[in-house]
Amino acid sequence: MIRISRGEIARHILSRGAKTVLIQAPEGLKPQLSRLVPDLEEETGSVIILHGDSCFGSCDLGLADGLRMGIDLVVHIGHNPYFGDCRNERLVFIDAYEERELAPTLMKQIMELAENRTLGLVASIQYLKILEDVRSIISSNGGRAVVGRASSNVMKPGQVMGCEITTAKTVRNEVDAFLAIGGGDFHALGVALWTGRPTYIADPYKESLVDLTPLARRKLAVIAARLDDATRAERFGVIVGLKEGQMKKGMADVMASKLEERGKKVLRLALRELSPERLRYFDGIECFVQTLCSRISIDDVELYDVPVLSYDQFSIIVGEKTFEEVYPWD
Ligand code: SF4
Repeated sequence: MIRISRGEIARHILSRGAKTVLIQAPEGLKPQLSRLVPDLEEETGSVIILHGDSCFGSCDLGLADGLRMGIDLVVHIGHNPYFGDCRNERLVFIDAYEERELAPTLMKQIMELAENRTLGLVASIQYLKILEDVRSIISSNGGRAVVGRASSNVMKPGQVMGCEITTAKTVRNEVDAFLAIGGGDFHALGVALWTGRPTYIADPYKESLVDLTPLARRKLAVIAARLDDATRAERFGVIVGLKEGQMKKGMADVMASKLEERGKKVLRLALRELSPERLRYFDGIECFVQTLCSRISIDDVELYDVPVLSYDQFSIIVGEKTFEEVYPWD
């Protein structure tokens, strides 16, 4: 279970004297928080609102919502202060870590994987404690495991996000394969696609070790077909995201100008959420490019009737990058 420290939240509330608090967290932590918030209110004497909307990352900060409600303190749980206005004095980030250990059967499979290979270890922030355990077990058994180096003062060693895998890239040339620790294949798929290295996921809940290579190859084939369609498009929708960390207006402007320079018709759009249903209103658009989240253009690529490209993918269709530069697969 991913544990939230009630004591840490209470300390932040009390040290700031916050009388009203907005707590924001990913969906998986909300059941725990709905039990914890009444106790926190009692302990701190503050009025606490739990943000009920989805929250997939710190690109989706609830700070503006909190400020609009006149809240004294916004507590964001489970993500790094990576995007947007993260240094605001009314905002605090709190980590939440998975505390379980990997099952012995899964650890045995990892040890077999590590035989005669150097493994690069990565994880999303919640699983970094398990990552450290795995590294030390592999090393003490004579194996070689390298933890991705911290790429900035925000990202921790080995930490990857759905859209940010620089820590993995720092050790790409030193490893034979990556091992991503976490539930689900979301983070591991990004590592597989953007490093081109064989990538395995060790899932502490399913107690399974899965090779992501077949999924990565399938995704690459669909993405390549979508990029091919995009090169023939004449009418583009250029979408700027409206969430705080996704509002890359300059990036959207650059994409729109480059398309117009190439004689393409451009419709500029702004959206908070992207879905096939939302895009159906915009008639005649043959390709969308978007600043919301690069993973929409990977994970959801099959859901859309027309290509919906990230900035990296856009760079490929305008000839500024090759497919292999973005997705370095043989
Ligand atoms: S931009 Fe996408 S992948 Fe990156 S943190 Fe936000 S939701 Fe996650």
